[in-house]
Amino acid sequence: MSCEPFLTCDHRVMVEQADAIIDGLRILMKQVKAVKGYIGIEENKPDAIAMLKQAAKDDFQIEIVPLHVKYPQGAEKMLVDAILKKEVPAGGLPLDLEMVVNNVATAACISAYFKTGIPLIERAVTITGTGIGTPKNLLIPIGTPLIEVLKFCQADFENLKQVILGGPMMGMAQKTLDVPVIKGTSGILAFKEILAPIQEEQPCIRCGRCLTACPMFLNPSALHFFVRNGRIEELKSHHMADCFECGSCSFTCPSNIPLAQLMRVGKAMLRQ
Ligand code: SF4
Ligand code: SF4
Repeated sequence: MSCEPFLTCDHRVMVEQADAIIDGLRILMKQVKAVKGYIGIEENKPDAIAMLKQAAKDDFQIEIVPLHVKYPQGAEKMLVDAILKKEVPAGGLPLDLEMVVNNVATAACISAYFKTGIPLIERAVTITGTGIGTPKNLLIPIGTPLIEVLKFCQADFENLKQVILGGPMMGMAQKTLDVPVIKGTSGILAFKEILAPIQEEQPCIRCGRCLTACPMFLNPSALHFFVRNGRIEELKSHHMADCFECGSCSFTCPSNIPLAQLMRVGKAMLRQ
């Protein structure tokens, strides 16, 4: 599930579609021949934990695991570590440990597909922020124009300064409202102020805060230098591909270096 601030759509899905999530998880387990299924939920969502425990109460193969509240934890490698205390190898995937990780909304969608034959045509989205008159979670058809969603939620268009698709840490600020809701749109955040104003970048002072903050134990300070200097081999040897763009490094950098943005660039360089 999403663990970013502001985003509550997965929480609503867990509370309102607990039976569908458990059904979808059973289907997934059958397809990949898994003998055990886990659902990790942050412990500040007791209603979701209770609903899913109730839905899975007769299934000894499924375990609901309350997790400490922290960011980032929704990424698949973080979840494998939090629930099973196992480390996905550098450059690898949970599949390397014979595990498959999926989002709760995906499980609910799979259940609906097997019951009705209708594929993913809508998704739960959180619409909130200081620029939204009536914040809410909505089930929105894929392809709906962003501007229609904002109108529906009584956005204060005259005073909007920033609209972000996704969460405040991993989302993308939008240049235009002429974009649709897609299957990856977990949130639409609209603000009457700039959430994180761009500040003048200063040189890296080697404070090490970004290393401490990185949940993947990467060295964002070194990586940003390699990105800016096009040093592809060093990007590979320093495990650039393991970055999942959580933004924790940027958040902690006292020199205002746009580390997470540079990590995105670095990953794109590896794909070329
Ligand atoms: S965005 Fe920064 S903190 Fe997050 S995984 Fe990538 S390098 Fe590490
Ligand atoms: S947090 Fe910023 S200033 Fe500190 S080591 Fe990392 S990149 Fe350099």
